[in-house]
Amino acid sequence: MTTISFEDRMATIDFRVGSRAHIEVDSDVCRSCTTRACVVCCPANLFVPTSDGGILFNYEQCFECGTCYLVCNGDGAISWTYPDGGHGVAFRRS
Ligand code: SF4
Ligand code: SF4
Repeated sequence: MTTISFEDRMATIDFRVGSRAHIEVDSDVCRSCTTRACVVCCPANLFVPTSDGGILFNYEQCFECGTCYLVCNGDGAISWTYPDGGHGVAFRRS
């Protein structure tokens, strides 16, 4: 069986980054979060805990899978929308 590395798999993905953040995270809400589920569930590793208990988030390499929104238990912590037309992730055949 042929194994494809994570780097080779990522090379088949384009990110057409829009100027508007399609996902926003309210770090103030995150400070009282007990699970930090987004940190382990995001397949793109876009949620990074900060030393003050908040979350640093970067939307630019988002796969638009919606997992973070589903697992988050912090009311109002995540504002989730799709990117504007013509922007966002594009999966290509390898
Ligand atoms: S799961 Fe939600 S509330 Fe908890 S740290 Fe992640 S985004 Fe914040
Ligand atoms: S939609 Fe998916 S890839 Fe994007 S930030 Fe949420 S969990 Fe990560």
